[in-house]
Amino acid sequence: MSVISPANSQTLLQKDDTMRYRPMGKTGLSVSALSFGCMRLSEDQELNTNLIAQAIDYGINYFETTRHYIKGTCQHKTAPGLHGHTDKIIVSGKEGMGPDKTAYSFRKEIERQLDILGLSHFKFFQVGWFSWAKIPHLLKRGGVLDAIRRAKDEGLIQYIGFTGHDKPENFIKCIETGLFDSITVPYNLINRSYEPVIARAGELGIGVVAMCPVAGGVLSCESDKLKEALQMDVPTTEMALKFVLSNPNVSTACSGMNTFEQLEQNVETVKNFDPAGSTEFETMCEGLDRLRRELGDKFCTACKYCMPCPQGVNIPKHLAAYRKWKVFGLDEHTKQVLAKIPDENSYEVCDECGACIEKCPNDLDIPSMLKELGQLVNS
Ligand code: SF4
Ligand code: SF4
Repeated sequence: MSVISPANSQTLLQKDDTMRYRPMGKTGLSVSALSFGCMRLSEDQELNTNLIAQAIDYGINYFETTRHYIKGTCQHKTAPGLHGHTDKIIVSGKEGMGPDKTAYSFRKEIERQLDILGLSHFKFFQVGWFSWAKIPHLLKRGGVLDAIRRAKDEGLIQYIGFTGHDKPENFIKCIETGLFDSITVPYNLINRSYEPVIARAGELGIGVVAMCPVAGGVLSCESDKLKEALQMDVPTTEMALKFVLSNPNVSTACSGMNTFEQLEQNVETVKNFDPAGSTEFETMCEGLDRLRRELGDKFCTACKYCMPCPQGVNIPKHLAAYRKWKVFGLDEHTKQVLAKIPDENSYEVCDECGACIEKCPNDLDIPSMLKELGQLVNS
């Protein structure tokens, strides 16, 4: 039996022949390196139930839920698969908050989510869609923190986390308040913006749930550039999961799964992943940094000063795809993105008038970049 190292200092410990585990910060809980995001469960309830039951059999012990996913049905879809196993797993619930959220309404929501899931308590409850600007509303008298403290005292919640999309520097301030046991943020090969937050969480002993480890499916497209940068000759999806788990401060990679194929692939990757025998995390980061540097400072920052284009081209959308293509070599993904842009907003309607070039603060030769995208599509 082996186990993943503590989230803030050691490597993954393997507990049995299917799953590896890591400490969830300082909580004392051991969390499976692969966790299950329940936001993508399907319309097929029998499949959902069997999938979750199988995930538990594979040793996955962290399930991320909220009543608000899948048009309010996420926890209803999740509950049958958890039935009979809830004592040995960690199910997290989540509720958002704003200026009008009271302790009473937050408490009612905790009870409602417990009821749907058939749980006596949440081992983790997340303050969802959180940001530094919401701290005053969290702390105010009769506010959400009052509800959380009371729910903890009564045993309805054990640990508290938050999730959201605020600026990294703001999330660092949030975790430094000492109010939270975990943080849940997007993190993957092509989006490392929260890496400093994850590093700080590691220092503070705060658990880290990495969302979107395969970037919502983007990393299911193969990329030779990424293989070269990470010095790994494995499918991109596998590489993506290994990258996230190589960060010693990540407690668990939370993947939104809805098929047995995804589940089995991910479990296989985690089972066979030996961080000691893989490319070092620092080497992977250096490789990714190198890819970014190759593009230099000539990239679109999505300021939209170039818009509107007189011909209707959605310039920022094209240039976001252009950047991913050039940096990460995601050719197929780029083609898929371009195919979804309506004809009237496509690169194809550009007449090379040059109006956008004059407005772009980054001095980008936009018509030429659009042309390159056209060449990719026709290649
Ligand atoms: S003006 Fe330049 S940087 Fe800004 S959105 Fe347009 S192309 Fe991107
Ligand atoms: S060069 Fe093309 S993309 Fe730029 S403003 Fe003119 S038509 Fe639009």
